[in-house]
Amino acid sequence: MSKFAFLEEEIKALHEQGLYNVIRTIESPQGAWFVADGKKVLNLCSNNYLGFADHPRLKEAAKKAIDEYGVGPGAVRTIAGTQKINLELEKKLAEFKHAPACIVFQAGFTANLAVIPAITGQEDLIFSDELNHASIIDGCRLSKAEVVRYAHNDVKDLRDKIVENKDRARRMLIITDGVFSMDGDIAPLPQIVEVADEFGAIVMVDDAHGEGVLGESGRGIVNHFKLEGKVDIEVGTLSKAFGVAGGFVTGPEILIEFLKQRGRPFLFSTGLPPAETGAAIAAVDVLLESDELVKKLWSNADYFKAEMKAAGFDTGHSETPITPIMLGDAKLASEFSKRLFEKNVFAQSISYPTVPRGKARIRCMISAAHEKDDLDYGVEKFVEVGKELGVIK
Ligand SMILES: *Cc1c(COP(=O)(O)O)cnc(C)c1O
Repeated sequence: MSKFAFLEEEIKALHEQGLYNVIRTIESPQGAWFVADGKKVLNLCSNNYLGFADHPRLKEAAKKAIDEYGVGPGAVRTIAGTQKINLELEKKLAEFKHAPACIVFQAGFTANLAVIPAITGQEDLIFSDELNHASIIDGCRLSKAEVVRYAHNDVKDLRDKIVENKDRARRMLIITDGVFSMDGDIAPLPQIVEVADEFGAIVMVDDAHGEGVLGESGRGIVNHFKLEGKVDIEVGTLSKAFGVAGGFVTGPEILIEFLKQRGRPFLFSTGLPPAETGAAIAAVDVLLESDELVKKLWSNADYFKAEMKAAGFDTGHSETPITPIMLGDAKLASEFSKRLFEKNVFAQSISYPTVPRGKARIRCMISAAHEKDDLDYGVEKFVEVGKELGVIK
């Protein structure tokens, strides 16, 4: 018998429960439409909020960075040194976020794995929203701190849990997603900061889905709530609205200095390559020059959401361009997604373990790359499939 027979069982179970991920092959850049599994489909599933993934300015900047710096950084920054373009990006991101300092990582995921274990240990407590992103959960696991989960966006529960546990803690760290990626709701950051200040806890927000989306020119959730200087640590990603790949942390100079000494993904994994770095700098430049794309993103999202609601779909309680179409059953969601694809609409179903069991959905990601005609096409096909499957009348 194969040593991996146990995996065959696992895979079979995933198929049976409708939880098996179908991963399509893409043969064109990300955009309003793209080529998936050989056919042109409407793209309602990428985090390319502003259309930067195929933006001429970013592509030009990436090519220029390759000409100047080559394709790879050679080794980790502590050994082979930091390419100057990385320092330029860090400076630019700190300015954009109105933060004292910034450090760039290979991904948002690794940014969380770097910062959480670097500042917490066995004697500390981490208060973490129950719906926080997997990379926050893994970062917490890598730190030896005890994790206290509080009810989603429930500041009263957070405060109660701090009161109950604070005497055991050397340090306390509160972590929340800024925008929750599966529902599109926003963390009550002003109230979280108030509670943190009351008890002297550090506050960290992961703004992966807020950058490029919330705040003035897409500066993110901290700017959105006018909390600059009041949130201690922000984690960001270059992989979503910025259209590239990579992650970063902004915060006090001393924290950034320490992460360069003790952040494990910084010390033991090669940093961001020149092309990505150059493209990310251009992304920030485009945002600094104009908020036109951010405005278009929001007007597209408002339009799509209103049309879907009018058609009778349950769009959950999103406050951002993330538009979940709540279906409940995982098999229904995956069948819905399959039929949409047959009609040239690519909108992925999302089920357990990414969302709780019984809360399967199709998540539509609206972008500034879409035009009104594209969104109308999407709504029309959703209505057709929704009627076929008895989701709407
Ligand atoms: C997507 C996401 C990440 C991971 O970012 P990558 O740059 O893709 O690794 C981290 N945190 C949150 C909240 C996210 O939504």
